[in-house]
Amino acid sequence: MSMQQRDLREALVQTYAEMIRRGLNQGTAGNCSVRCPQANRFLVTPSGMPLEAMTPDAMVLMDTGGEVLGEGKPSSEWRFHRDILQARPDVGAVVHTHSVAATALACLRQGIPAFHYMVAVAGGADIRCAPYALFGTQELSNAALEALENRKACLMANHGVIALGDDLSQALNLAQELKRLPSNTWLPSSSGSLFFCRRRRCSESLINFVITVTKDILPVFIKFILPIASLIRTIPKSPQAGHSVSRHPLRFSRMR
Ligand SMILES: [Zn+2]
Repeated sequence: MSMQQRDLREALVQTYAEMIRRGLNQGTAGNCSVRCPQANRFLVTPSGMPLEAMTPDAMVLMDTGGEVLGEGKPSSEWRFHRDILQARPDVGAVVHTHSVAATALACLRQGIPAFHYMVAVAGGADIRCAPYALFGTQELSNAALEALENRKACLMANHGVIALGDDLSQALNLAQELKRLPSNTWLPSSSGSLFFCRRRRCSESLINFVITVTKDILPVFIKFILPIASLIRTIPKSPQAGHSVSRHPLRFSRMR
């Protein structure tokens, strides 16, 4: 086994431990994966193994054909890990959680609308919720891939969260943000009002957000201009935008 693969196995265990420590998952729920330097290979956490039993050697090496290379039984969700890593060359790692508020929102089959500028960390003006499909199935993987189009995160109906990153640390941090953002929709909507941003305000937020994270890297900023324009086009034009008062989160889906 190469040093690089050994390091990735260790990082995968650490990421899983951090998911538990940060309260993103409990027990044996959730899983994560990382792309290997060798083409068409990835490492994924094992199925149903408690953190105490997880070691670098217990991480499961797979190829994109779905074959296990060596020992171990992969997470039941290996299909969406495989499909995301295969379809998205921009992604190096995938983190899946059942964090409480996000899963509650997903049980209402709601995505996260444009109500806070941090929604843009997932790459667009909203975070979609994939339609329901049974866990572990190809149908779920297909639905998740679609919800992740031009995004780095999605919810899955009646299930949980997927967060993507260049590496495990980035995917983990995005999953952490996906733990907080849904709470920010729940609290105001349960007390009576949730305001949505007007298109112009959302556009300002998206542009400022990208300028902030790329301010010293002009060429990178230039690279972002077209994606920003396409993101702005995705912002809803609802006439109620900016004035919406919703007493129940079920109602804010109508804004999309
Ligand atoms: Zn799950």
